[in-house]
Amino acid sequence: MKLSLLSVLAVPAAVVAHGDHAARHIYPRQASGSSAAASPSASRSSGSAAAPPGSSTAAPVSSPPTVAFSLPSTNPTAVPLSQIVSGASASPTLGATTAYPAGASPTFLSNAPGLPDLSKVLPANYPALDKPPPTDSPQVQQWIQDVKNSGIDIPNIAPTVAGGCPANAQAAADTSRCWWTCGGCTRDTDVTTCPDKLTWGLTHDDGPAFYTPNLLQYLDQVQLKTTFFVVGSRVISYPAILQEEYMSQHQIAVHTWSHPAMTTLTNEEAIAELGWTKKVIHDVLGVTPQYWRPPYGDIDDRIRAISRAMNLTPIMWTRISATSTFDTGDFNIAGGSTSASQVLANWESIIGNATGLDTGFIVLEHDLFQQAVEIATGYILPAALANQPPLKIEPVVSCLHKPLGDAYLETNDNKTNPPVVSGSNPVTLSSGAPGSSEATGALNNNGGKNAAVSMQANVGGFMTAAGVSLVALVAGISVFL
Ligand SMILES: [Zn+2]
Repeated sequence: MKLSLLSVLAVPAAVVAHGDHAARHIYPRQASGSSAAASPSASRSSGSAAAPPGSSTAAPVSSPPTVAFSLPSTNPTAVPLSQIVSGASASPTLGATTAYPAGASPTFLSNAPGLPDLSKVLPANYPALDKPPPTDSPQVQQWIQDVKNSGIDIPNIAPTVAGGCPANAQAAADTSRCWWTCGGCTRDTDVTTCPDKLTWGLTHDDGPAFYTPNLLQYLDQVQLKTTFFVVGSRVISYPAILQEEYMSQHQIAVHTWSHPAMTTLTNEEAIAELGWTKKVIHDVLGVTPQYWRPPYGDIDDRIRAISRAMNLTPIMWTRISATSTFDTGDFNIAGGSTSASQVLANWESIIGNATGLDTGFIVLEHDLFQQAVEIATGYILPAALANQPPLKIEPVVSCLHKPLGDAYLETNDNKTNPPVVSGSNPVTLSSGAPGSSEATGALNNNGGKNAAVSMQANVGGFMTAAGVSLVALVAGISVFL
């Protein structure tokens, strides 16, 4: 089925979205100025086909604009686009559909331990939800020592301040730090694409969450596996859903505890974010991820080194120019700064660009809100499955030609993905390094952190109050990537 939608309001959504971000002083997208939305593909749609059920040509003035797009297929049971909007009433969710007994064996992974007993995984034993974990706890102090013992040199780069590239002009101009946020710099150690042409390393960020089981059900129906970049605060909130992701043979990877912009953190704070997320995943699954994704893609050589010292390899999303990253913008539907049709136009642009690459690709998508799940299961994934030429769609670890076991410390046989840290190297983290108690600038970071914290608190409120209108709870959510 060819589906087209023509709008009477073809205002570039990027303008709306960026204005929204600027008003909230959120820097990552504002700084990069990048999104596939920068090149909406409205002109590629004929607009001649019948409008889909629920389409509208008279959107309210306050709504984000409807734009044209064209998809090769959609899910017959898709939620109509007119209902995939900010403030949408809550759709039915499945919840965790399988309760795994303690000790259940992940038979698909050699040497994987049995699942832990969730009754022993207590939130009281973890940091507060959606707040940067304290750095003076015994656990974090141990991880700080482990990083010192790793032998990985942590570059002496000062943390950035909230406000992105405009607020960090000197850092943005300093190409030696290879700051992705300002300029898109990557290192060979970053995973930014899949090596094989027309291969999509599927990823979903910010869960596990209320609607993740709906995504899991669809992925199961169409026999797709994805990589979930999970937030530690969500893991301790929804451990059974994480177990279901894992036991369904999806790849689980780290996405920090409280979703901060990592370059704004001190070394110790960054270690705490990664360490607690590794720990809660291990406590729930019995295995420890070896890959992570920095929130907002905010990584530089200091954060790279810290993550490397913690045996975490960064996975970004594909970026082909300063104004074109493979970001669907799906997260911003819930916040009202992007329309569902704009996300589909973004997707059309992404897949058009991806087809011309010599490599495969990785796209930013989310499973935190129902709108993002509905746009994925109803539209993006069905379109991808019907794409011509055909796409190979698989988790990132698979697209890298590695077995799923390489995704975790306990099941990695070290043949194709050896840990970077042996633990037998000299100390290199000096007392004067950024992030040490002597470093300056940390106090200036609170604005950015608090923005993330308050947003996530709203998310948490929604999660525990299903049925409550999103409208009153989503202020600021568009900050998330
Ligand atoms: Zn994220």
